[in-house]
Amino acid sequence: MSDPVRTPSLVECCSAAVGLVHGALRPKRPDERFQRSLTDVGLPTPRRTVRVTALPQVPRSVPTALIVEGRFAPRHILNALTTFVIEHREATFLVDPSVCLDVRKRAIAELPSVLRAVVTPPADTIATVTALRRAPLLPTPDFALPTHAHWDHVCGLLDLPGLPVHLHSIEHDWITSGTVAPAGGVRDSLIDRPIRRYDLDGPPVLTFTRSHDLFGDGSVVLVDLPGHTPGSVGVLAHTERGWVLLAGDAAWHTEQISGIRQKSSFPGDFVDNDRAEAFRTLQRLHLAQHYTTIIPTHDHTASRQLLSPL
Ligand SMILES: [Zn+2]
Repeated sequence: MSDPVRTPSLVECCSAAVGLVHGALRPKRPDERFQRSLTDVGLPTPRRTVRVTALPQVPRSVPTALIVEGRFAPRHILNALTTFVIEHREATFLVDPSVCLDVRKRAIAELPSVLRAVVTPPADTIATVTALRRAPLLPTPDFALPTHAHWDHVCGLLDLPGLPVHLHSIEHDWITSGTVAPAGGVRDSLIDRPIRRYDLDGPPVLTFTRSHDLFGDGSVVLVDLPGHTPGSVGVLAHTERGWVLLAGDAAWHTEQISGIRQKSSFPGDFVDNDRAEAFRTLQRLHLAQHYTTIIPTHDHTASRQLLSPL
């Protein structure tokens, strides 16, 4: 039986609704003093390239104002539950195995009803396991590496039994401590499989304070993107076409990064664990956008740059 999940109170729902209106009129302003305090130490020195591929996904059209605070044009943007495949000479791995088969029953049903209404994907959403079967020329994945442990970044694991998962130790501690799980469908996806915990034990990268060099050759470096969840990471990959940073849900859309706009309070208040920290991370991403292509996991338009040519 699944663990109980945290459900927002009526007061929290009202607060988010008020925040949505307030943010639409007066979006949170960038903190210029914070940005001036940051030191940019530059990019790693890679000795190899990797290939990054976005698996096909069916997007849904969502009001821009529910994603990017205070932004009304265009009126709608495309949002998708995308999974990425990274091919390195030593291993192939999935970033954000996002959708299981029958996702409405197996994961979304566990979410609080206030969230179900806004996150339910289209009926023809492609499960991660199905997308992999449709791409037979991609190597079989050796492990998965979620950018963070929310249901829409791990529940595809339910159809990939035994696949090892690399998980930031801070994130692992966060989802396993306490009797109430932080989000639906998460613990079920991670039980009965090898979990390889890692720490961000490496030096700063760009303005991100710490990192982890996954293969020791600078080709895939995990960077700290806290706020959305305590242990959220970005996956910085060196490809033949330059650097790509898979940013998870540190932003939902590149418009947030270019314009420094936080997620709208509804539903952002319910999904960002620490809104102030998330906003600081967003400003670090804004500074990084000049050196790397940034792909938020759910930004369908951005991820199309990485569609497989297969
Ligand atoms: Zn997400």
